[in-house]
Amino acid sequence: MSTRCGIGYDLHRLEEGRKLIVGGIELPFDKGPVGHSDGDVLAHALCDALLGAAGLGDIGTHFPDTDPKWKGANSMLFLEHARKLVDEKRLAIEHIDAVVIAEKPKLGPHFPKMRGALAKALSVGPEKINLKAKTNEGVDAIGRGGAIAAYVIATLTSR
Ligand code: MG
Repeated sequence: MSTRCGIGYDLHRLEEGRKLIVGGIELPFDKGPVGHSDGDVLAHALCDALLGAAGLGDIGTHFPDTDPKWKGANSMLFLEHARKLVDEKRLAIEHIDAVVIAEKPKLGPHFPKMRGALAKALSVGPEKINLKAKTNEGVDAIGRGGAIAAYVIATLTSR
């Protein structure tokens, strides 16, 4: 059995009057991500981590933001598709570890629901998904509340 790791990163600017969707869950907040799809940073970084581990390029290759098909798209669709590609390469998702960085709102209380939504999209148990929240200590765009970012590492094994 061989093990493969992939890393993913994403950042979206936050603006007033947009829905804040993180990990497939809508959070009550006055700002949300600017993006072509629903702007779910955690889902996008996770998608890139999976594609990276499978050696399949990146999210932009599979879901170009120039394609009107993906305008306002639910990012859980990206994850479901990435999982299908991972399956086709006969790889299994062993573990996902993620850091989501936002000054506000508090993300931790929403993690159980996010883990459930991500696990469902990936057809794995929620125990395979670990989420961590950080602030940026008031520093930079994220610290000033102008952006949200996520880092994800995915570990896959060949079947
Ligand atoms: Mg993105």
